[in-house]
This record gives sequence, C-alpha cells and structure tokens, in this order.
Amino acid sequence: MIHDSNATVNPPCPRTDDRLGASCVTLLPRAAMHKITTLDDHWMARPRSIGTALLESDGHHAIVDPGPGSTLNTLRHELRAHGVSVSDLDAILLTHIHLDHAGASGALVRENPRVIVYVHKLGAPHMVDPSKLLASAARLWPDNLGELFGEAVPVPESNLQILEGRETITLGSRKIEVAYTPGHAAHHVSYFEDVEGVAFVGDTTGIGIEGQSYVMPATPPPDIDLPLWDSSFARILERKPNRLFLTHFGFSENPAAHIAQFRERLHGWMETTEKILQTAKNDEQAMDCFLATMRAEIGEHLPAEEVEQYVATAGLNLSFLGLARHARKRAQAASSSSKATS
Ligand SMILES: [Zn+2]
Repeated sequence: MIHDSNATVNPPCPRTDDRLGASCVTLLPRAAMHKITTLDDHWMARPRSIGTALLESDGHHAIVDPGPGSTLNTLRHELRAHGVSVSDLDAILLTHIHLDHAGASGALVRENPRVIVYVHKLGAPHMVDPSKLLASAARLWPDNLGELFGEAVPVPESNLQILEGRETITLGSRKIEVAYTPGHAAHHVSYFEDVEGVAFVGDTTGIGIEGQSYVMPATPPPDIDLPLWDSSFARILERKPNRLFLTHFGFSENPAAHIAQFRERLHGWMETTEKILQTAKNDEQAMDCFLATMRAEIGEHLPAEEVEQYVATAGLNLSFLGLARHARKRAQAASSSSKATS
C-alpha cells in the first residue's frame, strides 16, 4: 500500500503459469487482478444494515469502513469466506469515524500492526483517543452502547495516514482518489477508485439498500450542515463515478439519479423539521411529530419490513436531533445577521 506515489507492485505469477516466468504478468486479464466485494457485517443480527467493502488489487487488500467493534467476528468470518484474513489487510479506508463505520479499526490494528488507517485530519485525534467519541455516543445511546457498537480500541498514531482531500492512494495497481465530503460529518471523506469507477461515499448519499430505489437521510448530531453537504454532492458528481458504494448498504447503480433524489429528500426533511419546531409545544412533541411524519413518508415508498430496516439502520430519532440542531443554528445565525444590519 503506497500513499501519494506512482509506484505499483507486480502481482505474483500464478502457479499454473510458472512456466511462463515473468511474462505471465502481461498474459493475465486485467480484471482478474482487481475485485470489490461487499461484506455484510450483520449488525445486530440484521442483514443489509452495515456493509464493509473489500478491495483487492494484485494481492493487496484494503477495506472501506470496517464497521463497529460489535461485528468484528462477523467481519473476520466474512473476510475468511473470501480467502482473506486480517493479517492480509494493508489498509483501512475510513469515510468517517462514527462508531458504526470505524469502531473496529483499533482492534484490527492490534491484530495486524502493519495496517495503515486512512482518516480525515479532523477525525484522526478521536481514533487515537476515542474517549470523547464514546462519551458523546453514550449520550445518544445511554442504555445499550456496548451492545450496539462493542469496544473502540485506540489506534496508535503511527498507524494513521492523515487525509485532507485530493490525495491519491495506491493499492497494487489500483488508484484511489480522496475527496473531502462534509455534510453528514465535518470529517467525512469519499474514495474514488479508478478501475471500475466506484465511489465509496460512506453516509454522504444517505441510506439506500441495494436493490431498493428509496434513499433516506441519516442526519445525526452534531455536524449536520446542508450547504456543505450540497458542495459534497457536487464534488462527487464532478468525478462522474459509475457506481456508488453506500455503507448502508451496498451498490447504487445510477449516481446522478441517486444523488438528485437524496438531495431533494434531505432538504425536504430539513423544511419539515423547521415547520415542526415552529409549531410543537416542546422538544418531545416535536420528536414524536417528526417520527410519525417520516415513518408515514417512508411507508409510502417501501413495504413494512423494509421501513423497519431503514429506520433501525438510520436511527430516525437521531436524524431529528441532528436536523433540529442545524435548524436552530441557522435560525440563530439569521437573527444575529438581521440584528447586525438593522
Ligand atoms: Zn453510518
């Protein structure tokens, strides 16, 4: 695994072609050297909720978003099912540091200290010392944090590769471009690989389960920022990916249509939240109203069992808290700027 370099590593000759010596490399079809596989982490015993992407290139292995500590054994099992062990991993590419995406990183590094963990500079300190991350998660999930996300082991600083966006990572002969894509989180990045044109977008384009056309926002506190999020959509689309890979869950085949639908829904949910906040008597009533409104909306698009799947994966109550926080910040900023100009 090489960062910011043009060097490539030739694949080892396969046994059956040993007689061909060094020339066998050029005889192998290019596609045979590269692979992207969806690993289902079966979070809370629920399939198609949290997914890890396994990227293979010329005998090099990376995973995008290993998932939470609570699904580490499932991840190990899924890797083994594809002929890969934790000791084979060269890199972990984190889209962001939320526990459902990055929680297992430290335990994987402890098992294989050779692994490089790629993470945005704003998220990096919380990988080295996850105590603040765990404290804020404990406020959101006071009753069952351990059951949901397991242990978050610190990642040694020496294993981190800090990103800001615009870097190029080399995995075998595959190039992976990094783009800064905030909105869901201030430290969110996306990865664009060059062989199949897949963009690994984490939570930047919402929750959309492979095979379903409905796309839903996940907007937990504290970073939700819609103007920044819009700039991230533009940053993804200008790279013209062929497919998106969503942590929740799997591939989406039409990036432009997916993002157009998601952007409209995200802004729609924001407007609904603002209206609810204006009319509700208190926070509790506002939350209840949001949950009922959104469940009804999702139910118009999906069968009942899929509604539960989306709601459980996203944490609909957290989405309200994140949108409400952003709405209040916007209202405060608008009133202080109107005071300044009056
Ligand atoms: Zn997520």
